[in-house]
Amino acid sequence: MSFRLANIDGRAALVNDADQWFDLQTLSGGSASSDPMVALTQPDVLHSLAAQMKTAEASGSFTEVISAGLVYAPVPRPRNSFAIGLNYADHAAESTMELPENPLTFTKFPSCIVGPTANVELRSAFADYEAELVVVIGTGGRDIAEADAWNHVLGLTAGQDVSDRVLQFAAKPPHFDLGKSRDTYGPMGPVLVSTDLFADKNAIKVQCWVNGELRQDSTTASLIFTIPKLISYLSSVVTLQTGDVIFSGTPSGVGAARGIFLVPGDIITTTIENIGTLTNHCIA
Ligand code: ZN
Repeated sequence: MSFRLANIDGRAALVNDADQWFDLQTLSGGSASSDPMVALTQPDVLHSLAAQMKTAEASGSFTEVISAGLVYAPVPRPRNSFAIGLNYADHAAESTMELPENPLTFTKFPSCIVGPTANVELRSAFADYEAELVVVIGTGGRDIAEADAWNHVLGLTAGQDVSDRVLQFAAKPPHFDLGKSRDTYGPMGPVLVSTDLFADKNAIKVQCWVNGELRQDSTTASLIFTIPKLISYLSSVVTLQTGDVIFSGTPSGVGAARGIFLVPGDIITTTIENIGTLTNHCIA
């Protein structure tokens, strides 16, 4: 059975489609670990416990814990956190950059990862938003074939690749890693959804609003390098491991293209179809 995995107050939880959450360890009668990173290593347990939600008593309302700020990143401590630049042609065009011949890969250092309602602490006047589908690796591996790649995906979640545009280009060649890794610049969540819950996992809607104004609106069908291609490419270099995350790139509509940057008080709303919404307030 498909599952939606969340990290509630530091504990693994499952969420059903009726807005209820279930503490994973409680649901398992004590046998499953409460550690969200351990939960990622046990897809079979997640699938079977998800089926038990039907008859179990819920721990509470998911909307309530989101509102209370108690939902954290579903993958709080990935060992590797990859991100892909210029992976939508319309975004490459608005950035006046050439289309990459290979996936333009950088790191969002895992220390920047925060939850779906975390504040984004602006550290300069040049912060920008990038809504992205995030892939979470299940079974790791090396030299994974494209045709087999989806079998290595535990699930998908929503990410916000907050970027400091001046820092990003502060060196030559640019150091994307640092520009995209300031503390709090990696909101993620609210749930990790198993891939079997998507009608078409190769065409997932990605949207971003700032203060209620729609800025980005696309689907992953427009990715230059598809999810399977990214997994194949990355795994030809790095042995992928359970819990590794891949920010798959952002579509057009970023602020930098229009000369608009995030300021304290702004609210970034990132929605990925079938996954949910990140709501991040920008603070000084
Ligand atoms: Zn990005």
